[in-house]
Amino acid sequence: MSNKEFLHSFNGRVSMKIETACIHGAKDEMNLTGAVAVPIYQSSTFAHKAVGQSTGYDYSRLQNPTREHLEKTVAALESGTDALAFSTGMAAISALMELFKPGDRIIASDDLYGGSIRLFDTISKKNGLIIDYANTSDTSSLNMNICDDTKAIFIESPSNPMMRVTDIAAVKSLIKDKDIILIVDNTFLTPYFQQPLLLGADIVMHSGTKYLGGHNDTLAGFLITSSPKLSERLRFIHKTTGACLSPFDSFLISRGIKTLAVRMEKGQQNAMAVAEWLLKHEKVTAVHYVGLAAHPDYEISKKQSCGFGSMISFEVDCEKTAYNILEKVKLIMFAESLGGVETLITYPMLQTHADVPKQDREKRGINERLLRISVGIENVEDIINDLTQALE
Ligand SMILES: *Cc1c(COP(=O)(O)O)cnc(C)c1O
Repeated sequence: MSNKEFLHSFNGRVSMKIETACIHGAKDEMNLTGAVAVPIYQSSTFAHKAVGQSTGYDYSRLQNPTREHLEKTVAALESGTDALAFSTGMAAISALMELFKPGDRIIASDDLYGGSIRLFDTISKKNGLIIDYANTSDTSSLNMNICDDTKAIFIESPSNPMMRVTDIAAVKSLIKDKDIILIVDNTFLTPYFQQPLLLGADIVMHSGTKYLGGHNDTLAGFLITSSPKLSERLRFIHKTTGACLSPFDSFLISRGIKTLAVRMEKGQQNAMAVAEWLLKHEKVTAVHYVGLAAHPDYEISKKQSCGFGSMISFEVDCEKTAYNILEKVKLIMFAESLGGVETLITYPMLQTHADVPKQDREKRGINERLLRISVGIENVEDIINDLTQALE
């Protein structure tokens, strides 16, 4: 069943399709005023009427009404049992790593957001975890990496920046009798285009900074769980380590989610046009966009997702062309990050993947000719005109 047919329900309230669920979100249980937008409860602590009498809120690190409302909305959009909102995506992944103990092995996609690689190779490693990188889009090679100490598989799909897709259901079938947690970083497609929990994942992770927020103005992260047991373990870590999302930022992400459906549709439409335009340009030697029929993972992506998103990476003929584009763009901004309304262009080698050793980087295809575009929702002709003059 496609995500768009799936009906989301909030505490037994009317079931709705995802576009509607993004706008109406979870019910604001405490609404006495009729406020259409959920208020920002900018309070660090909550008073008790008497000993042993709590309103359900005690201290905002444990829970805050604005954050709770956002978490319920995100949990429903991902079809999860619970969602936990963190101050950043990296805070969410760091908390996730606290599920494991020294000696545990985690298999991770070999093409991954640079910050995740940095966390795994430095802090997780220092804490005794062993990270085995594998090409998760090749399930047979992934299978060879699974051993007795493997406790989790961490997948990014589509991956960053090479846009490889992993067959999530196929990975789940490899580990269904084993005690291995399947984690999917769903930042690029969002629940609007892909719902990993319905494909068998146990935990979904998001950098809410990207498409969920959608306006390049707020940092946030999420973990969404498939079972109350995982949720309980993560809630304990969340309140104990404390990197939770502030009430104001929770409000901004809730506000961003209202327009998620229209932004994802428009961004994808623009990305398809930009990818096709790039393909024809004489200085462009390769275009990696999942929505192109020639992409190696096009079929699997059509099977498990209902959209291709708006992230493209491409290679140009030489380093000089790459520098030229970055210096000449006028509308498109040369900036890290993605998923906002503005089109951004990134140089993975010097930005997102700067901390990955050169040899590893090049093995992953991240060289001095590779650029990445997060296609925004401007008029696509303006985006293409800007690229045209930048590539001259
Ligand atoms: C940005 C990003 C992260 C990290 O999220 P922050 O909000 O920047 O901490 C993780 N995974 C992916 C795929 C990302 O794009």
